[in-house]
Amino acid sequence: MVDERLRTVDEHLAIILAGIGSIDPIELTLLDAQGLLLAENVDTPIALPSFDNSAMDGYAVRAIDTRDASPESPVTLQVVGDVAAGAKSRSGMGPGLAMRIMTGAPVPAGADAIVPLEQTDGGVAKVAVLEPARTGSHIRRAGEDLTAGSSALRAGAALGPQQLALLAAVGRDRVTVRPRPRVLIISTGSELIEVGRRPGFGEVTDSNSYLLAAAAKDAGADARRIGIVPDDHAKLLDVLESQLLRADVLVTSGGVSMGAFDVVKQALTELGTVEFTRIAMQPGKPQGFGHIGGRVPIFCLPGNPVSSLVSFEAFVRPAIRKLLGKRTIHRATVQATALEGATSPAGVRQYRRGVLHREASGGYSVSFAGGPGSHLIASMASSNCLVVIDEEVTQVAAGSRVTVMPLLLSNR
Ligand code: AMP
Ligand code: MG
Repeated sequence: MVDERLRTVDEHLAIILAGIGSIDPIELTLLDAQGLLLAENVDTPIALPSFDNSAMDGYAVRAIDTRDASPESPVTLQVVGDVAAGAKSRSGMGPGLAMRIMTGAPVPAGADAIVPLEQTDGGVAKVAVLEPARTGSHIRRAGEDLTAGSSALRAGAALGPQQLALLAAVGRDRVTVRPRPRVLIISTGSELIEVGRRPGFGEVTDSNSYLLAAAAKDAGADARRIGIVPDDHAKLLDVLESQLLRADVLVTSGGVSMGAFDVVKQALTELGTVEFTRIAMQPGKPQGFGHIGGRVPIFCLPGNPVSSLVSFEAFVRPAIRKLLGKRTIHRATVQATALEGATSPAGVRQYRRGVLHREASGGYSVSFAGGPGSHLIASMASSNCLVVIDEEVTQVAAGSRVTVMPLLLSNR
């Protein structure tokens, strides 16, 4: 065996990120843009609010007319009409008069204050005002939120509910955003069958395409399962070629090890633009990454389900986040107390499935879910985090602190 120095996870990720460009912005309707980053500066053509309006149900008055009002000697004003929200024209009123007004209704010309209903007798033809009003009280001024022509949101803003509300308020029903990368998932292996049929001897139901499509979707991608391709050179190249135009990222699983039928590695190595490397990580040692069709990044992940998940988390997720334009492309990690010990080979970054617990004291503790075997789907399903055991660590003692990457569902 050749004494080969394995590439580290960090080195491999750096190579991947350097090979990930950006996707042209697209225009989307507001709710389709949720969770994405704005790719344009949006100025508001209108002021917010766009007209002076009442903040309360009450009476529009001239403040000076209520100067002497008190509960003992109320000031009585004649009510010359009602203004409701949605009034299409601005009403007006003269001195010594009042208009009944509803929240959001335009303040009549001639009025400079709103007396809340609670500070009156609620009269209809005339109203007794029990307290003096200050000039401008309970009036929301035109432009006090945003003036016409000013900036509403800048490129790069993340579009959550609050930002979508603002875009709607300033009249934008479509905006230009960084799109969700179209990530296509291909499972390779002649043993694989579609879900729904009971596997015969030697057959394995394809679960990786669900794992990877769901993980890609959770990372923010527009993810699709393309299906199963057998271990057949020509079929694999056909499928890849037919999907190229539809993809911003391709992800395959399986067929990247040393086996005689590891056709992903064989077929794509021949293309010359995809490199197959061994990474100092466990699981997930064999990895392929490169570009096909001169443009589309392709990740070739090992087929064991746990290896696929770990490889996705280590390499594909950060790439998807970069394509989305996100500032934080890495998952947050926490420090937790290991509830049991573990060993890890020197020079290898080990990712173990774990169950993270929140302690009453506020800290975290973590136990391991299942063994290190990367075929263990059920123990993977019982985990909620990855425990990351760094390259230089060979022994984790029970009670020591370890780095944990919670696999929280994102808010997409
Ligand atoms: P490979 O990386 O192709 O050598 O596959 C490694 C192991 O993972 C084999 O036991 C495969 O049967 C299994 N495997 C590969 N692809 C999938 C898949 N899509 N779903 C479930 N298991 C898979
Ligand atoms: Mg295989």
